[in-house]
Amino acid sequence: LRKYDSDYLWHPFTQMSEWEGADNLVITKGEGCYLVDSEGNRYLDGVAAIWTNVHGHCRAEINEAIKEQVDRLEHSTLLGLTNDRAAHLAKRLIDIAPPGLAKVFYSDNGSTAVEIGVKMAFQYQNQTGHPERTKFIAFDNAYHGDTVGAMSVGGIDIYHEVYSPLLFPTIKAPCPYCYRCQLTEDRNPERCGMLCLKDLERLMESHSHELAGLVIEPAVQGAGGMIVQPPGFLKAVRELCDRFDILMIADEVAVGFGRTGAMFACEKAGITPDIMALSKGISAGYLPLAATLTTRKVYDAFWGNYAELKTFFHGHTFTGNPIACAAALASLELFEKDRLLEALVPKIAYLGERLKDLLDLPHVGDVRQEGMIGGIELVQDKKDRTPYPWKERIGVRVCLEARKHGLFLRPLGNIIVVFPPLAISLEELKILMDGIEAAIRAITK
Ligand code: PMP
Repeated sequence: LRKYDSDYLWHPFTQMSEWEGADNLVITKGEGCYLVDSEGNRYLDGVAAIWTNVHGHCRAEINEAIKEQVDRLEHSTLLGLTNDRAAHLAKRLIDIAPPGLAKVFYSDNGSTAVEIGVKMAFQYQNQTGHPERTKFIAFDNAYHGDTVGAMSVGGIDIYHEVYSPLLFPTIKAPCPYCYRCQLTEDRNPERCGMLCLKDLERLMESHSHELAGLVIEPAVQGAGGMIVQPPGFLKAVRELCDRFDILMIADEVAVGFGRTGAMFACEKAGITPDIMALSKGISAGYLPLAATLTTRKVYDAFWGNYAELKTFFHGHTFTGNPIACAAALASLELFEKDRLLEALVPKIAYLGERLKDLLDLPHVGDVRQEGMIGGIELVQDKKDRTPYPWKERIGVRVCLEARKHGLFLRPLGNIIVVFPPLAISLEELKILMDGIEAAIRAITK
């Protein structure tokens, strides 16, 4: 198996060879919060199958829903037809979404869910008498996916720079990264957030005539390093979007479906975006599915006859796939049956305590938490916050060490990510945090 893998498979991001020297585990089974490899070794999944898994692996209720659906209808199309699962799920998503979101447009991954939002906002402006509003505000350090449109609104140089001639230009605003704030002396989160907002306001003022929308990862910039925004930041961004009449596109691909302790990060902040992108947790991590939700105001701008070209020219072959929608419906039922959000409360508190304790370690510079998301930033020198040089691959080394403790982890550079399935038990969370602590101690001494 390893030979087939090395001979024929091109892994994402492998050319960065950050995992050099590590054996690719061959995962053959999932059981609850554990992944099992071809040799029978069990690893507690600390990153929820790349931030997607909600109820654990191979949960019987979801497996049953998928099997039942496969026997009934595997796929058709939403072009000129509908299917019962896609329609049912659309209704459920609108029921649980922040108030005011009214329509669901399906696709099949996070990048396209965001890109669809960008296309919608662009076309909306054109069709409501503002053809001059063509530009987007995007944030430094943002990650929205790897398609050309999603990269254009991204802000992580290492991923995006090489493609820059292909990307459409955006107006880049600073997003609070309080631990490394460039705008304040004291790195006080409140001041850091306020100064970022001031910059944003200034940018909106000077570009107000040409702005179509703003794209943001609400609450946490994920791939940028699990960077948590200060309280009130998201609400203030919403207010600025309203003031300048700009569509707000919230990318909840990573934070949606309970991750922050609320169903959606926007709901937790008490706001409704104009457009909301969902994927990852939507199907509990089982099947590729994504949705872009929007308001009736936006949708109505596309309601013309075909000859007027008001149509939204976008659609994927697997849009609204009934098997993926069946998994998503089964997942939403489990949220209720397991009272999952209530059950998160003690786990979130415990994660917070354990993260805080890690600050005593000599090379843990910062810990960040938003609900069931944790980020542990390792630094070479704690006093002046000097990062470890990239070539030390400190994050990868800690994650490889953690395998000795039966954990599967994946870092973001020097940041250790804690992102387990939401169904993780308190006992398992303890095992996860004990292993992470031991691995950090061993590698950064
Ligand atoms: N947006 C966010 C916030 C993400 O974290 C990701 C994936 N990590 C994406 C978009 C892209 O999703 P996908 O990989 O499914 O295209």
